[in-house]
Amino acid sequence: MQIDREKCTGCEACHPYCTVAAIHSLKKDEGEDLVSIIDQDECVECGVCYRAKICPTDAIYPVELKWPRSVRGVFSDPITVHKETGLAGRGTEEMKTNDVTGRIRRGHAGVAIELGRPGVGTRFRDVDIMAQAVAKAGAVFEPKNPVTFLMVNKATGKIREDILNEKVLSAIIECGIEINKLENLLSVIKATSSKLDTVFSLDLIRRMGEKGEIETLPIAKRAGFALRPNTKNNIGFGRPLFKEDK
Ligand code: SF4
Ligand code: SF4
Repeated sequence: MQIDREKCTGCEACHPYCTVAAIHSLKKDEGEDLVSIIDQDECVECGVCYRAKICPTDAIYPVELKWPRSVRGVFSDPITVHKETGLAGRGTEEMKTNDVTGRIRRGHAGVAIELGRPGVGTRFRDVDIMAQAVAKAGAVFEPKNPVTFLMVNKATGKIREDILNEKVLSAIIECGIEINKLENLLSVIKATSSKLDTVFSLDLIRRMGEKGEIETLPIAKRAGFALRPNTKNNIGFGRPLFKEDK
């Protein structure tokens, strides 16, 4: 995203709309008038400042994004569709619809690590650090996830070198693991958090037991994670429930 210096009056109306505080004021070269600029290294190309139509002089305008910068829009702008997966957004829809897809089977847990948040963002350098750490602990990456497509090696979790400095609003690593390896994986995730220059939240996906028990909860507690007792229920838009052989 760019600001036309000739049109900008420096009113600062756009500043609070930026999701990562990348818009700043500075003095125009020839005088004392202020003009706003977008820090291109910090801008995640989410498009919010442009779509908000807040600028009274239409000074904010999008530019065509070329690789590797285009990856910023793919992960930060919810109306941009990821070419390889055909999905808009950061993760796979099926993470939330296990009741109809059966992607996470008995004896396994799904793990999603959501790096970055509005106001903070994340660089792929941090995604790379976390992905390589969880791969070493035995996690298997979800093949349809957008982050997985950016790995040069899906066994090690190594992210392609040319995007490591690219900053996005957030990116989700999705993987699966046998339940008996989950506690170690969560301990690895906890230990890796101190190496990151961003925040993340952790999702655990698991089939409930016959009596409604959720096996992952005590495991997450033992690994040192504080749990938030909220749920997101998605019944799969009318598709039949997946039936797993016993
Ligand atoms: S596109 Fe998004 S990140 Fe970039 S300046 Fe606008 S609001 Fe900020
Ligand atoms: S809203 Fe428009 S005119 Fe005002 S500071 Fe932002 S870009 Fe400049």
